[in-house]
Amino acid sequence: MIAAMAEPVIYLDHNATTACDPRVVEAMLPLMTETYANPTTRNHRPGRDAACALERARATVDRLLGGRAASEVVFTAGATEGNNLALMGAADALADRGRHIVSQRTEHASVLEPLAALQRRGWEITLVGVDEIGRIDLDALESAIRDDTTLISLMLANNETGTIQPLAEAAALARSRGALVHCDAAQAVGKIPVDVAELDVDLLTASAHKFYGPKGIGVLWIRHRRPRIRLMPVNFGGGQEAGLRSGTPNVPGAVGMARALEIAASQGDAERARLAVLRDRLESSILEALDGSWPNGDAHNRLPNTSNLSVAGIEVNALLASLPDLAVNTGSACTSAHPEPSPVLRAMGVSDELASSSLRLSIGRWTTEEDVDRAAARITEEVTRLRRMPTRMGRGSHRR
Ligand SMILES: *Cc1c(COP(=O)(O)O)cnc(C)c1O
Repeated sequence: MIAAMAEPVIYLDHNATTACDPRVVEAMLPLMTETYANPTTRNHRPGRDAACALERARATVDRLLGGRAASEVVFTAGATEGNNLALMGAADALADRGRHIVSQRTEHASVLEPLAALQRRGWEITLVGVDEIGRIDLDALESAIRDDTTLISLMLANNETGTIQPLAEAAALARSRGALVHCDAAQAVGKIPVDVAELDVDLLTASAHKFYGPKGIGVLWIRHRRPRIRLMPVNFGGGQEAGLRSGTPNVPGAVGMARALEIAASQGDAERARLAVLRDRLESSILEALDGSWPNGDAHNRLPNTSNLSVAGIEVNALLASLPDLAVNTGSACTSAHPEPSPVLRAMGVSDELASSSLRLSIGRWTTEEDVDRAAARITEEVTRLRRMPTRMGRGSHRR
């Protein structure tokens, strides 16, 4: 069936991905149509021009992450690849020193799954718990670190709740015990200030499509001094990206990511303040209108664009089906193919029932006040309607 006219959809799923900023697209286009040569080829001028563009992007990304040398930047296909390379690459490189890694329970699947793979290969993995607002338990972290712990891996901001971890404190603990620190900063970079020197991490991952850059490009930042971190590659080939990520580099992507970071840096505080006001307006109108609704996460220290709410007495997939005019997500967005209660919320002590009736609302650069008011009104209206329904049968089916 062909829809007569696409309904306008209010997009509130920016933690899943963002639209490319038009300024980013503009910066990328010449790298696709003009400076398209393979940057690995240094024996002709077009190749050298592409290499030049790639190295400029590398220097920009390093500088805007607070690094000290462009060579600290390895371009990847995104945060999943970066996390895999960081964890597998460091585990392999440090295997002689120990085979114990510490992480925490609310990490993204792209951290938890490589750790599970390492466990199957003989590594010991300790996952530390979080408190009821999703912050890592620093005492538990301290006691989890052993003499044979080579690496700790902690996210900076959680993708479901927006909770920001006390990463610098955690990194200091790890460092005092001689463990390296990896940080999945995919939700933080471009949304809040992220500085590898301030955080004092050794490895940090980010992904451009989470901050208005293109999909398919990310960065693994690797400390090069004090100490110099060496990883084992996980794929092999032409030896691009210092041997850590063989394959023809994605030059348009790298240039787009650098531009997206520049824009985020220049909008900085103003964008964060605007988003926090809108997010608070969205969240408080829903919480005020609906009995039996609660916010999840750290109210004082979370991403400015993210709101995670539990709404008692609704089945979240029924709610989403009745809101075709909104693009919102369940708590466990990345694995929403199978509707299990969010492991992140469960780790925070939220009951299974409430964890499976949770919504994640994540606003972004082009969200307006009208958008959040409309979204709050629609969510309130549909929750109220669904709560009145005697059973859950037949919901939403008449819409198609
Ligand atoms: C989105 C996300 C990832 C994965 O990023 P991709 O670029 O899509 O691979 C990893 N970690 C966190 C916290 C994320 O939000």
